[in-house]
Amino acid sequence: MVNLRNILKKINIKGELLFNEPMSGHTTYETGGPAEIFCVPADTRELIEVLEAANRCASDYFILGGGANLLVSDKGIPGLVIDIKHFDGINIADDGRASFGSGLIVDSAAEAALEAGFSGFDSFYGMPGTVGGAVWMNARCYGRSISDILASVTYLNESHSIRTMTPQEGDFDYKISPFQNGDSVILEAEFRLIKCSREIIRKEMDKNRSDREAKGHYAGPSAGSVFKNNRAFGKPSGAIIDSLNLRGTEIGGAKISDHHANIFINKGNATSADIYRLINFVQTKVRDELGFELEPEIRMVGDFSDLL
Ligand SMILES: Cc1cc2nc3c(=O)[nH]c(=O)nc-3n(C[C@H](O)[C@H](O)[C@H](O)COP(=O)(O)OP(=O)(O)OC[C@H]3O[C@@H](n4cnc5c(N)ncnc54)[C@H](O)[C@@H]3O)c2cc1C
Repeated sequence: MVNLRNILKKINIKGELLFNEPMSGHTTYETGGPAEIFCVPADTRELIEVLEAANRCASDYFILGGGANLLVSDKGIPGLVIDIKHFDGINIADDGRASFGSGLIVDSAAEAALEAGFSGFDSFYGMPGTVGGAVWMNARCYGRSISDILASVTYLNESHSIRTMTPQEGDFDYKISPFQNGDSVILEAEFRLIKCSREIIRKEMDKNRSDREAKGHYAGPSAGSVFKNNRAFGKPSGAIIDSLNLRGTEIGGAKISDHHANIFINKGNATSADIYRLINFVQTKVRDELGFELEPEIRMVGDFSDLL
């Protein structure tokens, strides 16, 4: 890893290069230990240089969006974390084709679409994270998945060549995208938006944000829903957890939200281990008492093996 550090220092990138950077400052749970190397490339050329250096050193890398769906181990992330935040371009054409950089914050994309008078992105307003993270997760809000409005995704494949994929060419499904099976880096995504009056779009955006506020989405640091919903279980994961009266359960500084049983919050002093143990506790309770296997939606990054 010293080798990769030295190579990256020599590349002398315009973006940032940090060492032992605490991930608690980059996740919405506000937990997580240090990233051994934390790099914020300024553009695609730098990103490719950094990826090639990682390849040469046989180093793993992790692409960070807004950190809104991550539980990062307290031991941190060995190797390289690449923050994609400088990929934040916005380009909206008159026909409603909107290209957003992968590092653009979802709320900024929604505001830009509103400004241009196009609807479609308003459903995602209020959801923390970036456009790239939303594509990777195939995020779903208020009955609409990202893939429903997606026209194409431009990405770097594992050989670092730029490629474009339409949703018809990839396997998108409920909270599933083709990017979950591999190490591609999403550079930008193009969406098909629909002309609409600004008043109507604004109303929809405000309604969605108010609904989130009422449901306690912003009541404490969290990563939104912990478990995916599974139609076969007959009710949403939150209702399943509620049926066992688990709202308010605490382990260390982690707590099942009083507002929503599928949202776990950091009360202020939680470690990732606390949150991990609370997730395990709920999974075990639901499995033992109801026979359902809840599948985490949040992505665990780093080593949690000593907590099992
Ligand atoms: C209060 C709150 C409410 C939420 N509500 C919802 C909701 O309604 N619906 C919903 O679906 N989710 C929701 N979430 C979860 C979260 O907002 C989404 O999953 C979001 O899409 C994550 O985006 P991100 O940029 O933060 O990704 P991150 O958490 O940073 O990363 C998620 C995954 O995407 C990968 N990734 C990110 N960017 C790229 C890229 N450019 N190239 C390749 N891989 C990449 C990462 O490597 C990681 O594997 C909520 C979270 C919070 C905190």
